[in-house]
Amino acid sequence: MAQQTETNHDVLRKALEANGQRFTEQRAAVYSYLASTTSHPTADEVFLEVRGDVPVISLATVYKSLETLVGCGLAVKLTYGDGSARYDGRTDPHHHARCLSCSRIVDLPGHVPTEELEELHDDTGSFQVTGYRLEFTGYCSDCATEDVAGR
Ligand code: ZN
Ligand code: MN
Repeated sequence: MAQQTETNHDVLRKALEANGQRFTEQRAAVYSYLASTTSHPTADEVFLEVRGDVPVISLATVYKSLETLVGCGLAVKLTYGDGSARYDGRTDPHHHARCLSCSRIVDLPGHVPTEELEELHDDTGSFQVTGYRLEFTGYCSDCATEDVAGR
């Protein structure tokens, strides 16, 4: 566990310094938590978790730390149509599925063929497509079970 934390700290320190940012205990706590979970937490959820280890931390600091991590390429921000955002410590390209009942986000393993999406363009060819958003929706294991049992 100590070894794990040290490795995380080294990765974080290098990335922060490469981006002209300082290493701080708050940033380290936020990064350690994000690297340890697959739950794609909101800033509020990160705050509630990290507060146990770093009692002086504020929600504003957590939010800024998360944005700094995103800026350094150590985290990915997932944004939604309702203005909410979640953070992912996993930065390799992968797809997500969102539960329509509880909003839980899970990683989808495996390759989705998206090559054709990358070649799409508008009629005039003047719109420069630089990316796309692809989200899978459905029901997580908890909600699918409830659905079957409850109806
Ligand atoms: Zn669910
Ligand atoms: Mn993910």
